[in-house]
Amino acid sequence: MVKAVVGANWGDEGKGKITDMLSKEADIVVRFQGGANAGHTIVNEYGKFALHTLPSGSFCEGTTNIIGNGVALNIPVLFKEVKDIVDRGVPMPKLLVSDRAQIVMPYHILFDEYEEERLAGKSFGSTKSGIAPFYSDKFAKIGFQVAELFDETALKEKLQRVIVQKNVLLEHLYKKPLLNADELFDTLMEYKKMVEPYVCDTSAYLYQAIKDGKDILLEGQLGSLKDPDHGIYPMVTSSSTLAAYGAIGAGIPPYEIKQIITVVKAYSSAVGAGAFVSEIFGDEADELRKRGGDGGEYGATTGRPRRMGWFDCVATKYGCRIQGTTDVAFTVLDVLGYLDEIPVCVGYEIDGEVTTDFPTTAKLEKAKPVLKVLPGWKTDIRGIKKYEELPENCRKYIEFVEKEIGFPITMVSNGPGREDIIYR
Ligand code: GDP
Repeated sequence: MVKAVVGANWGDEGKGKITDMLSKEADIVVRFQGGANAGHTIVNEYGKFALHTLPSGSFCEGTTNIIGNGVALNIPVLFKEVKDIVDRGVPMPKLLVSDRAQIVMPYHILFDEYEEERLAGKSFGSTKSGIAPFYSDKFAKIGFQVAELFDETALKEKLQRVIVQKNVLLEHLYKKPLLNADELFDTLMEYKKMVEPYVCDTSAYLYQAIKDGKDILLEGQLGSLKDPDHGIYPMVTSSSTLAAYGAIGAGIPPYEIKQIITVVKAYSSAVGAGAFVSEIFGDEADELRKRGGDGGEYGATTGRPRRMGWFDCVATKYGCRIQGTTDVAFTVLDVLGYLDEIPVCVGYEIDGEVTTDFPTTAKLEKAKPVLKVLPGWKTDIRGIKKYEELPENCRKYIEFVEKEIGFPITMVSNGPGREDIIYR
């Protein structure tokens, strides 16, 4: 059976933890989109890890980890990550890389930096991992698939062709050093050496695995609101963050995805620019940021402080719907235990009218939060294993959110570790 674990919000919902937990039962974990621009934080018996490219199944012996065709594959980052975890005592993960995955080129990272520099105050707050230039090239049909590393003559010729265009931009728009095709070719040959043992037709592998009844987990990155079609465009990422895209980015039939576990965080956080209706500031935000996640709400990739906000029912209801949610995993609820009262955003006021429908970006910019204040529970809920043992106000918070978003909360996460989970 194929399951997907995806985010309902702006990312950082705790997908890494949920995937790590579920990957114990999975035969295969697949990354299907995005690149090294976001990170999952995983806490397990080996320690605390920030993964950017490796699938979260990398800590489970016996699990096969697949980099699907939809991923922006940064080859040196992938193998640095493999080395980092192996150096810390984790057994070498079983890894397969799609022959159709495309390669993040060194110049994608440069163009990402140069463009953010050029935009200055109007920048996207990119992590400068090359993701937007990478996907632009993929769809402009000048990207490089992993399979292309294995035809050196064709590769050289294509590099020369692509570089002509890049160098015009470098010279005239960015006024930066030009690219050299021979140097790039040598770099790609290094990449080839690293990736060669793992390359295969992962779509065919997965097709057979489905036939054999294997359990497959699709691991999403970021969340619904960062989707280029359905998110807060243009302050989005450059590949689809939706479970539906899992079929494309892994190369499997869409009807095989039977369960869509949407991870929802008990409060809001976001990185990068863009409208964030329930955002809070000052001491209130600092307090939540400091207590949030596991050791504070700071980006797993960039270390930058995340923007903080109260739980947003409007954005989450929409985020869950657009994912096709079958189950909600409600995370980091333990963090809210310090609050006397917990505000929740239940509507958006736009031009004097209140709505619970998530609007397009221009309207979203004008939205003001309509808050409802719920009582806090003022206790530490970590370690609790049964739903009935949660404090009453905590259960009321969960049930209120469930009713507002309209999707069943079947898992409640009350701590960063694998075992900190309450099934309902
Ligand atoms: P992801 O990208 O969606 O995997 O999210 P991140 O890993 O960036 O952020 C989630 C953070 O919250 C990480 O530091 C996790 O270890 C932590 N975390 C996940 N679930 C819980 C939870 O239930 N409680 C607490 N306190 N921390 C959690």
